[in-house]
Amino acid sequence: MGQYAGAPIVLTAPLTESIDHAGFFIQMSLASIPGWMEWAIDKKYPAWRDVPKTAEGRAGTAPAGLRVLEAVLAREFGVDQVVVCYPEQLPEFIGDRTRVVAVSTHNPLGTTFAAGVYASIFGSSREPVNAMYARRMFDTIRACRQRHPFAVILGGSGAWQIEETGSEAEFGIESEEAFIAAAQVSCTNCREKIEVICIHCYSGIDLESGNALEFSTLSNISSMDSALAATLERWRFYRTTTEPENGYFANHCPYCGAVQEDYLLHSEPGDVFFCIAEAEPGSIEFTAVEGRIRVSGDCGFGV
Ligand SMILES: [Zn+2]
Repeated sequence: MGQYAGAPIVLTAPLTESIDHAGFFIQMSLASIPGWMEWAIDKKYPAWRDVPKTAEGRAGTAPAGLRVLEAVLAREFGVDQVVVCYPEQLPEFIGDRTRVVAVSTHNPLGTTFAAGVYASIFGSSREPVNAMYARRMFDTIRACRQRHPFAVILGGSGAWQIEETGSEAEFGIESEEAFIAAAQVSCTNCREKIEVICIHCYSGIDLESGNALEFSTLSNISSMDSALAATLERWRFYRTTTEPENGYFANHCPYCGAVQEDYLLHSEPGDVFFCIAEAEPGSIEFTAVEGRIRVSGDCGFGV
């Protein structure tokens, strides 16, 4: 395999999901212990990162689902067309011939039920070790993609979903744990007490970078999927503006119609949506959004 030619189909999974330890405890630890406590895993399992390679220098261990996919694709396209590798090997196997990079990940954000429970013991704002490794893997993929145009397929637990190279760009942010956050402010124009809202994600993913998002407040939203748009019907004062910036969503005063611009609600300490996590209890009302949302906009962490 020429270093620059690459393999047409490259399959990978985060290192934390590729290790072949019999112990259930280590898998649970990787999903729950925050990244800065990785030393605790290193102490108990000093060799956990020493993963075996095959004679051809490929991944010696991989999640079962990835092996099944490898077998199916090899039968369909030929054994020499498919490579399973560890994330750190991606730059070796991705090249001009590469058309697809398929990623198996069970827990890229550290948000499955069990992981959530254990992560919260250590502080929910801490990124678990496996989320950290998943993020590094996506960083590597993104770096490779700057040199080679390939499609990325994300999947796991047998459910594979194709992300077209182009369609990801349509929406920049995706979340399955989104809330409408509502608060009271004075209208910037007529000073009446009015309600304003924003979208707050407990977790999510930046589709462009692959980075995990936590406790992110979205602003300057320029587009959203139709399901979210339907949910927002209840808050009719939040709609697209014509002034000052055409097409962006913003809150409007129901009395005078003035646009309450996001930068006046989100930007500085003291702004109502600046740091939602530290807002006074009861000052913000949350309404969960059903299912997955996809939007394009800016993402603030308010820390
Ligand atoms: Zn007003």
